[in-house]
Amino acid sequence: MSLFPAVEFLKSVAAPGQFPQDDGREVAVAGRSNAGKSSAINALLARKGLARISRTPGRTQLYNYFQLAPGLRLVDLPGYGHAKVNAAVRESWGPLGEALRQRDSFAALLLVVDIRRGVGELDLAMLDWAGRPAHVLLAKADKLPQAQAMRALKEAQAVLAAHGSCQLFSAHKGTGLEDARRALRGLLKEITPAE
Ligand code: GDP
Repeated sequence: MSLFPAVEFLKSVAAPGQFPQDDGREVAVAGRSNAGKSSAINALLARKGLARISRTPGRTQLYNYFQLAPGLRLVDLPGYGHAKVNAAVRESWGPLGEALRQRDSFAALLLVVDIRRGVGELDLAMLDWAGRPAHVLLAKADKLPQAQAMRALKEAQAVLAAHGSCQLFSAHKGTGLEDARRALRGLLKEITPAE
C-alpha cells in the first residue's frame, strides 16, 4: 500500500516567483549528489521513477515539487557536492533558497547522506541553513556490514546531536523504509511518529 496513493508531480521551480502557493505543509529533501536521494524518494513514495520524471540534464538547479496529498508537498532540492552548488549552499542557496526558507509551509528537512561518507560539513551547513526539524537517512546501508553500519549510525547521531534524528536506510533492500515513512509523515505532521 502506497504511503500517498495520489502522489503526483506538481512543478519544477526555477525562480522565486514560481513556487506553489504557500499553504499546507512541505518537506524538503536534500543531500549530496549521488547520496541516494532520488532512490529514497521513489522508495518512500513507492513510485519507481517519480523523482526522475522532471530531471532535465544540465538543469540541476530546479526545485521539483510533488503533491503528496492535498496541502502536503515534498520538494526535491538540487543535489550538492559540485563546486558550483557548494558555493550556492554557502551563500544560503541564493534567491531560490531564500524564497523557500521564508515559506511558512516549509515544515522540515529530510536529509539523505551516503552512509559511507557520513554526515559532512555541507550536510551540517544544509541543516543550519534550513533551521527546521530534520530527519537524516543514512542511505545505502546495505553497502556496509551490519556492525559497520551500526557504528556509522552512532557516529552520525553524535555529529547530528540537536540537529535532528537519523536512521539506517536502504532503498535497494528496504532497510528502514517503514521508519523513514513514519518519519516523513511525522515531519509533515500528518500523524505523530510513534517514537
Ligand atoms: P541522487 O543523486 O542522490 O539522487 O542518488 P540516486 O538515487 O540517483 O543514487 C545514486 C547511486 O546510488 C545510483 O547508482 C543508485 O543505484 C545507488 N543507490 C541508491 N540507493 C541505494 C541503496 O539503497 N543501496 C545501494 N547499494 N545503492 C544505492
